[in-house]
Amino acid sequence: MEVVVRSHERECAVCTNDFTTPKILPCGHLLCRECVISWMKSKHHAGCPLCTCPIAEHQGYSSQSAADVVDALPTDSVMEAIVQSAGVLGKDNMCTVCDDVRAEYICMQCVEKMCSSCMKMHKKMSMSRSHDVESVSTVTPERLAASRPALCADHGDKHAEAFCADHHLSICSSCTSIKHRTCLVVRDINDEMKDSEKTLCGLTDQLVQAEYSLKQGTEHLAIRLQKVEDMEQEDMTQVDKTCDKLQRMVENCRKGLKKQIHDSRLQVTNSLIKAKRELDKRLGKVTSHRNIVTRARAVAPRAGLIHVTQALTDRVNSLDLNADLDEFYSLFTDLSVFHLEEA
Ligand SMILES: [Zn+2]
Ligand SMILES: [Zn+2]
Ligand SMILES: [Zn+2]
Ligand SMILES: [Zn+2]
Ligand SMILES: [Zn+2]
Ligand SMILES: [Zn+2]
Repeated sequence: MEVVVRSHERECAVCTNDFTTPKILPCGHLLCRECVISWMKSKHHAGCPLCTCPIAEHQGYSSQSAADVVDALPTDSVMEAIVQSAGVLGKDNMCTVCDDVRAEYICMQCVEKMCSSCMKMHKKMSMSRSHDVESVSTVTPERLAASRPALCADHGDKHAEAFCADHHLSICSSCTSIKHRTCLVVRDINDEMKDSEKTLCGLTDQLVQAEYSLKQGTEHLAIRLQKVEDMEQEDMTQVDKTCDKLQRMVENCRKGLKKQIHDSRLQVTNSLIKAKRELDKRLGKVTSHRNIVTRARAVAPRAGLIHVTQALTDRVNSLDLNADLDEFYSLFTDLSVFHLEEA
């Protein structure tokens, strides 16, 4: 399984350099040990700089120093190994033996870069005959990290052959028989590797399963979220429709009522106009006769006056001056004709 760790994945978000002692925060993000400590000191209770999750797994770490909290976090020793291998590959590619000649090869076990003549020497020597030598330009940090032998925790130059579970250290054969002689669980490092691989395989299954369930959960919620948004949209449309309908009803009601009022008033107006005309006519007659009477009195010709007096008396009597006007006054005294009837 070839997993390529891209160069930016080896970078710490705080110092932007490749990780130095990468610590695994409770959220799963990696940061250099020193970077977490300085981050915690500068920003109290700030949480992970990438996701703000708490850095201390347990609350109330104020009694502990930042260094204690960070040292209690596990180190990603795989990332550490990749960063170290990337460092070896990233340096100027000079032969580690001749020093001034360009290195074209690297021994995957000794982690030494060599020129072609030194490589030939390396291949001839009985100690290193079986070593894998690869071209510097094609080897990846992960492959180099994978092929580097485990070294004794005490003797850095000796290969580790066992793992002491009591001390949690990789140790060489002499350490097994001397320093860790009385330790209870010291196992062959290859057996320990196989067990670790098996455990990690189980962890992968667990995490994949959990990832699947969580993804389903988030998808389910996303669908519901969409549904809620759609429902809001539908409800809004319904409100618009209903209000439009109500508005039309109100508009029709307004028109109907106004027409009703107008029609009633028109009837009243016509009746009043008719009555007024009638009275105007009567007034005209009376005024004309008053003028005739006034003129007769002012001029008063003999015989003519007597003559006309009888005629005017008859006429004025026929005008019925005492006719009752009550019928006009009583016309529509109550003008409030606007009655809201049920539509
Ligand atoms: Zn850093
Ligand atoms: Zn985080
Ligand atoms: Zn050389
Ligand atoms: Zn070698
Ligand atoms: Zn040792
Ligand atoms: Zn031990």
